Amino acid sequence: MSTVTEVPVTADEHRVGQLIDRLLSEHPAATTPAAEFLGAQYDLGLAWVHFPEGSGGLGLSPKLQKTINEATAAAGGPNPYYRNPIGYGMCGPTVVEWGSAAQKARLRPLFTGEEIWCQLFSEPGSGSDFAGLSSRGVRDGEEWVVNGQKVWTTLAHVSRWGLLVVRTDPEAVKHAGLTAFVVDMHAPGVEVRPLRQMTGEAEFNEVYFTDVRIPDRDRLGGVGDGWRVSLTTLMNERVSIGGAIAPKGSGPIAAAVRIWQDLPAERRDAATRDELMKLWSEAEVNRLTNIRASQNRKIGVPGPEGSTGKLAFAELNKRVYEFCMNLMGADGMLYGSYDMRRPETAMGSDTLHKAFLRSRANSIEGGTSEVMRNILGERVLGLPGDVRVDREVPWSQVPRN
Ligand SMILES: Cc1cc2nc3c(=O)[nH]c(=O)nc-3n(C[C@H](O)[C@H](O)[C@H](O)COP(=O)(O)OP(=O)(O)OC[C@H]3O[C@@H](n4cnc5c(N)ncnc54)[C@H](O)[C@@H]3O)c2cc1C
Repeated sequence: MSTVTEVPVTADEHRVGQLIDRLLSEHPAATTPAAEFLGAQYDLGLAWVHFPEGSGGLGLSPKLQKTINEATAAAGGPNPYYRNPIGYGMCGPTVVEWGSAAQKARLRPLFTGEEIWCQLFSEPGSGSDFAGLSSRGVRDGEEWVVNGQKVWTTLAHVSRWGLLVVRTDPEAVKHAGLTAFVVDMHAPGVEVRPLRQMTGEAEFNEVYFTDVRIPDRDRLGGVGDGWRVSLTTLMNERVSIGGAIAPKGSGPIAAAVRIWQDLPAERRDAATRDELMKLWSEAEVNRLTNIRASQNRKIGVPGPEGSTGKLAFAELNKRVYEFCMNLMGADGMLYGSYDMRRPETAMGSDTLHKAFLRSRANSIEGGTSEVMRNILGERVLGLPGDVRVDREVPWSQVPRN
């Protein structure tokens, strides 16, 4: 006789399950416009389930979000991440932690994709060393006057709001002199110029600020809190880029398996098969590691495991797409068009060729693999820290190019 062990459903799971049923029955995914569906999802607290009630959440464990996402995806519902990747994955979690009531009110249109957000951190002279940035914010009564240049700003050309960090105190040490703002991307003095990538597209931009006036009420966090605010964004960025838990054998590795299966028998040699199996196993190890990391994030605040997951994802993704191109042989060179386009989303990899080219950015965006290894070494393995000569010195006295 066999016994079936039932997994008990917690009260929270039950509540979320009922709300999902209500969402899907009152707003059938197939016929409801995307923004309306997502608005209803937000109002039911199913947008970011670990956020507080009234801000798109229910104050529950972030683990429950996976159940919600799977249910809405299975019903054919829209994906808020694809519509507004920087907004949903990074700006939302930062605003809910640091924002005023008025700023949190922007979370709903962010989630529905009616207001796209961008992240204005990197500068020509400060990417990895982002705390060394030089864009300036100078207070003028109830406003701040901002001048400077940002770069690699994904989707700035379609953004309504930007999460901006500038230097407000050059005499403080570099981490202490920063302040964060939510900037109106349509404000006078904000200029967005396209930057073209090797895919042919310009999904990111240069953004110039010339005497842009930002009301003090649009400050995010306290004056001088910019570094701490940014850490919230960066930790969520790494999870957002590398922390997705896809079904077993899906994603890039599924494409590799598919190409392998379509190869003529004489090209399916043992050495190539061995390579494919190694990549498949690594993809599965990453998937399981991400599941474990997500279960550790009980309180919804990602730690260094977000960085290690991002590192593993980036390096593997590049290798899997390289492998796909090798399997495709000469077909791998038939890219299509390099015509300049400014896409409305940063998530579009409609062909394997494009996915291959786009994957080269994975080990740069959201923190380079070298920097992720530094974090892994220092914060997980407890190894001695990187050499840092500018920590105790006022930013104004640090030599720069
Ligand atoms: C597709 C894409 C989208 C992006 N979108 C955005 C965005 O929306 N908003 C935004 O603000 N930024 C964005 N970025 C910028 C991204 O965050 C930076 O490119 C990244 O942080 C690296 O900075 P950098 O390009 O200035 O390189 P650098 O910091 O100059 O690094 C150059 C090289 O030196 C290495 N290096 C640097 N410091 C160390 C160290 N301490 N130890 C070991 N090696 C080191 C790096 O690993 C790299 O190989 C995007 C980048 C890409 C590629």
